[in-house]
Amino acid sequence: MATKRVSTRAFNKQRKEFFEEGQRENAPCWLCGQPIDYSVKPGTTDESHELDHYVPVSQDPSLQYDPGNFRHSHKICNVLRGNQPPKLSVGMHSRRWY
Ligand SMILES: [Zn+2]
Repeated sequence: MATKRVSTRAFNKQRKEFFEEGQRENAPCWLCGQPIDYSVKPGTTDESHELDHYVPVSQDPSLQYDPGNFRHSHKICNVLRGNQPPKLSVGMHSRRWY
C-alpha cells in the first residue's frame, strides 16, 4: 500500500480533540446509536471511544485528517465495521426499541 506517513503526531492531537468534543456533547456511537463510555481512555474497552472515518482511509487516504470525515464510534463497532463502507441503504432503520 502506498500510504504516506503523514504526521502521526498531528493526527493523535486531532483524535484527542475529537474525543474531548464527543465527551462534552456526550455524542453517541454513529454506527449503533448507543452511548459511548467516555469515562475510560479511548480504545481501551469495547465501549470506549474511537475516531471512526466515515469514508475509510483505505478508500481515500486524503480524508484521514479531514475532521468532516470523523465520526464518534465505539471501539468494538469500529473494529467490526473494519474497512467496509457504512451501510447506508435507503430508508435504513435497523434500530429497534422494542
Ligand atoms: Zn457502537
